[in-house]
This record gives sequence, C-alpha cells and structure tokens, in this order.
Amino acid sequence: MTTGPQVPTAPFGTVFAGTMSVARWNRGSWTEAAAGPVEPFSFHPATHVLHYSSACFEGLKAHRGADGVVRIFRLDAHVARMRRSAEILMLPVPPADMLAEMIIDVVRANLDEVPETPGSLYLRPTLIGVEENIGAAAVPSSQALLYVLASPVGDYFAGGIRPLKIAIETEMPRTTPQFGMVKSGANYVMALGPTMKAKSDLGVDQVLFAPGGVVQETGAANFVLIDPTKVVTPALSDAFLHGVTRDSLLTIASDLGLVVEEREHLRVDEVLEWAARPDAEAALSGTAAVLASVGSLVHKGEHLPVGTGEVGATTLMLRSALTEVHVAKRPDAHGWLTPVG
Ligand SMILES: *Cc1c(COP(=O)(O)O)cnc(C)c1O
Repeated sequence: MTTGPQVPTAPFGTVFAGTMSVARWNRGSWTEAAAGPVEPFSFHPATHVLHYSSACFEGLKAHRGADGVVRIFRLDAHVARMRRSAEILMLPVPPADMLAEMIIDVVRANLDEVPETPGSLYLRPTLIGVEENIGAAAVPSSQALLYVLASPVGDYFAGGIRPLKIAIETEMPRTTPQFGMVKSGANYVMALGPTMKAKSDLGVDQVLFAPGGVVQETGAANFVLIDPTKVVTPALSDAFLHGVTRDSLLTIASDLGLVVEEREHLRVDEVLEWAARPDAEAALSGTAAVLASVGSLVHKGEHLPVGTGEVGATTLMLRSALTEVHVAKRPDAHGWLTPVG
C-alpha cells in the first residue's frame, strides 16, 4: 500500500508540487501538452491577459484513499466547466480529452506528493490569453497558454470547524450577469471590494450576494439551506457559478433520502424565515472547504443566528458522506472518481 506525505500545515495554495503541464494555442491549433518542472513564465508587458483579463481557471482535487490509490474527483465535470468558461470568455476551448489528460498527467507526475487524507492534491488548470498586443482590446487573444498547476493542501478546518458569519447584500450583485457562470479571476476581484467592506464594517467572514432580494452565492462558494430532512438552494441560473460540490451534495443528499429543492428564486425573506427555525442549518459549498457551516446572518444591520448558531448535525453528516466518496470509503455510485496509477 502506498502512503502519502503527512497532511500539509502550510496555508491553502502556498506550496506547490514539482511538476506542471503546459500547452500553447497559436492561431488555431494546440501544441502537444508537456509536463515539466514548475517554473516562472516570462511575459511581455503587452500580454493580453494583463490588460484585458482574458483568463479562467478550475479548481479540483485528487484524494488518496485508505487503500493508497489516488483518485481525481469529478474530473469530467470540471473539464466541462472550464470549456464553458473559455467559450464565454472568447478563449480557445481546450479539447476535453486533452485537458483531462493534462490533469491526469499532473496527478501521475506528482503522485508521491498527494498527502494523506484529509489533505489532498488541489489542481488548478488555468487558461490565459497571451497575444502581445495592447491594441487587441476588442478582439480575442490569438494566442493562449493552458497550464495545470498542483498544490498539496491540508485540512481546510485544521483550526477546528467554526460556524461562519455571513452578511446578506441585497443591492450589489456579485458580478455582471454575462459572467455569473464563468470561473474567472475577474469575478473574484469584483466581489472583493464589497466583501472587504462588510468584513471591516460588520465583522463577517463572507458576503451572500442577493441583489433585489434573490439569493445568488458568496464570492467563491454556493449557498445551501439544510435541515434534518431537506436541502434547499437556488436553481441553476447564469447568475452564479455552477459548483461541482453543490451538484455532488444535492445528489448525495437525495441518495440519503433527503428532499432536495432547487428554487427558481430563493428569496432573502425565505432565508430569514428558515434561519429562525430551531433545526435550521445553512452552509457554503466549494471544492476547497467542501461544506462550511453558516452560523449567523447579518441583514440590514441585524445579527440573526441560523438555528442554534452552531455547526449543524445534518451539515456534518452530508460533509462526511461526501468526503467518504472522495476517498472511496463509500461506493462511487455515480462514477465520480478517476483513479490514477
Ligand atoms: C469555484 C467556485 C465555486 C465552487 O465551485 P466548486 O465546483 O464546488 O468548487 C462557487 N462559486 C464561485 C464563484 C466559484 O468560483
């Protein structure tokens, strides 16, 4: 049996595995992807992405199972989403097979660096426009660079699971409507100002964007309401990022006999009513943290606990069901795992 390195203690995303994979696109065709050592790129100051934000990325994980086998979680879903991001951004769409192979290659090359659970190897495919042309403001970049970087990560909750405090923002959207479904740095930087302001003014951890009183998501995670029998979340729309964790969570919740409701418009007043019930729970979902418990909401200056304000039992149960699938402790009923040997 192959054991991995100890669970890393460095902050998420600050240490990198030795090997990355790189492919280039030049006026209509891709070069063969090549794996090599992680080293800096050198860019001309006129490079497209630096001026016109032609960039998107993905975030997925490979986990080491109790049997020592390393498996990538939901590779196909992440590949499909990156292709959609590229398409919306007018970047060249990497062929699905090529991108999947690049990700598998990087995991294989860094197999010795996949930590023991609850650590994992976080994978960061990235696509950027690299044409050297500051005149290309209103045209797509004719050249692009695609790379897959890997980072051994530790337990997101190493400091203990603490319920988060979330401010509800009912005026400002997280991003522009045509960008809601794109996994791009531009969205993050747009949410950053309002999030930093809420952190300092209200002492919250994150902002839940709900322009016009309709819930979207936070800056980097999807929002779900949970109780012992039910999971409620906004139905997919182009206003927010279609989280793979969200989809996995809803599938597992339904497998476990919970009722799953995807609401066309999940309104803030419904969320506040939900939170007032003693058995109410709420959580944020995303690859990095899997499921993070929301303990209180701040709405129009009022601080309201969600249920008891503690980490909910159903949230923890769903989180461990999902992490058990990651490490193949629970049957992979939906074909979500890609073993890498
Ligand atoms: C990546 C991301 C998520 C979470 O998606 P997962 O596929 O679950 O990791 C949620 N919201 C935004 C804005 C994101 O960029």
